[in-house]
This record gives sequence, C-alpha cells and structure tokens, in this order.
Amino acid sequence: MRTFPSKAVQQWLAGGVSDTLTHTIPAIPTIYQGIRFRSRLEARWAVFLNALNLTYLYEAEGWDLDGEWYLPDFYIPNLNLWLEIKPQTGADLDSIWPDNPYWNWVQKVSDYPAGDAPLDYKNLVVLVGQPIILKDEGWLLQVGYCGYVIGDLSYRWCECRVCGRLGIQFEGRAERICGHRHPNFNDSEIGDHSARLLTAYEQARRWQPER
Ligand SMILES: [Zn+2]
Repeated sequence: MRTFPSKAVQQWLAGGVSDTLTHTIPAIPTIYQGIRFRSRLEARWAVFLNALNLTYLYEAEGWDLDGEWYLPDFYIPNLNLWLEIKPQTGADLDSIWPDNPYWNWVQKVSDYPAGDAPLDYKNLVVLVGQPIILKDEGWLLQVGYCGYVIGDLSYRWCECRVCGRLGIQFEGRAERICGHRHPNFNDSEIGDHSARLLTAYEQARRWQPER
C-alpha cells in the first residue's frame, strides 16, 4: 500500500519546497502571469496547469452555500473541473474521516443541492499538497499531493494513453478518463506519469516566484 507521501518524499519536500507545507507557515500572496494568487502553493499549481496547456480561471465564481461563502480556487472549462487547493497540514494524507479535516470539508460542499451551485462531487477535487511527483524508492512513483473527492481519496492527475485527454482519477487510472483502452495498458497501469505530466510536474517544481 502506498503512503502519500513517503518519509523520503517528505524529507525531499521539506528541503526542496518550503512554502505552504504546513499551517505554521503563512500563505504568501504570489503573482504569476499577472494573477495575484492567495498563496505560493496556488501559484505553483497554476504553473502546473499552464504547463499542461490547460486554460484555467482563478477564483472565477463564488456561491453562498447556506450562509457560508465558498469560492473555489480554479475552474478548468475544458474539463468542467473545479479545483480547491489546500496546504498539507503535516497529517497523514492517506488518512480518512474523521481524522482528516479535508474529508469533512468535501463532504460539506457536496451536501448542498446541486442546483444551487454548478459543482458537486462529480467535478470538484480538493488537491492537498504540492504539485509534485517523482521517482523514489526504486521504481515506485510518489506523489506530493493527494486528491480528495466526495467519499474517496488518492485521486491524481493522469493522461489517457489513447487520446491524450487529461483528468483526475483514482490512483491515476487513466483508462477511467474517457473509457479508452490502450492495448499495452490496462486499468491497473497507472497513467499518472506520462511524459507530458512529468514535464508539467518538473516545471512546477522548478518554478520560482519573482522577488
Ligand atoms: Zn481517451
């Protein structure tokens, strides 16, 4: 069973990317491509999306959800996908309700009637942590984030091996994006480390905000 991330990756993250890893470090407003992001972590995810040529809208639309204002971080029109970016708290990313605060959060959003807001469990993903994936411990690829959807976790970016469509699926199982079956890959063949995705992760990792 994988953990997200492993001890080795945690150490690597601590040394390589120091911002917004924990709540103890305040979010630093960061400008990237003319947009003022609330945190460096959000800006780094914007770099990742940009590297994938995915057009995104930042804080495009918010809703009053039963008295609580909710403003998702990103909307990706081409994928009809809303993304919420959260810093890693230092808690085990692989833990689930009731230990993991993000589990409750996704549950809360999904509790609202779908008609009141154009988002629900089908197209809202909470990404917790840095946009990082790297080879670690031999062949195993470790990710530095965990994607949460309602009722589940361990979702991550992947790319269809047939048509190249991007999506976020459980364990990065690319076949689930559009149902395309590749003769050389089955469902258990993780599609989270295509060349295109690895390039995007690398660009996000190397990106440095302007001082
Ligand atoms: Zn496809």
